[in-house]
Amino acid sequence: MEIIPIKYGNLMGSPDMKAALFAAGTSTPEADAVWDDLAAIKIRMGQNGASTSLLIKESGHSLFPAAVDLSFICADPQMRGEKSVAAALAALETLGIAPGDLKSLFVTHSHADHFDPRLPALLPNARVFAHPDSRIPGAEPLEMSSLPAWMSCLNTPGHGTPHCSYIFDAPQWDLAIAAAGDLVMSHAHYLSMGKPLAYADPEAGRASVRALLAALYARNLKYRMIIPGHDMPFFV
Ligand SMILES: [Zn+2]
Repeated sequence: MEIIPIKYGNLMGSPDMKAALFAAGTSTPEADAVWDDLAAIKIRMGQNGASTSLLIKESGHSLFPAAVDLSFICADPQMRGEKSVAAALAALETLGIAPGDLKSLFVTHSHADHFDPRLPALLPNARVFAHPDSRIPGAEPLEMSSLPAWMSCLNTPGHGTPHCSYIFDAPQWDLAIAAAGDLVMSHAHYLSMGKPLAYADPEAGRASVRALLAALYARNLKYRMIIPGHDMPFFV
């Protein structure tokens, strides 16, 4: 198995920014103005709010090659509309995967920056999967017994939508990897679990992070890594 980053995401709203947004209220003109300011500044700094996308390559298994959270929709207006779809397909092609080659799209949750609802129709041989207990709209329940021994999937609620996370073994590096989606948006988010802010249900989110760590440790590999939904990978 080979796990290849298609792109590493970056965060448009960090925990401290979210405090400013909360202070401005929910869906108020003030909150919209704060968001517009943050987005304009971040885009000028080269950050577009994209999510992390991964390619999982494996031969001889009907679920692979697969992508995790392939969406290229993000806060940058340049990457909305058809450009984000074209960018997703082009990124696959760059890695040697034609749209018809992809067998599975594993989604963490239904926010458009992770799951672009237009993509399944353009990936004619890919089925969209998520953890059966997550009940993510537009995704089929992933049959746990169909997974290879080097992969698992966890139901990880807390972010605010149904959400699941994926774990992959990379024994060649003695490493277990969690593709955490927005359960862990960034390393800063991981370090601020006392006041996580990116969770609609903080208790559920913290319980999901504990479950994710327990699952990583249960792989019995020397090293453990979290790949956040909007940041660079880090070891735990
Ligand atoms: Zn999200």
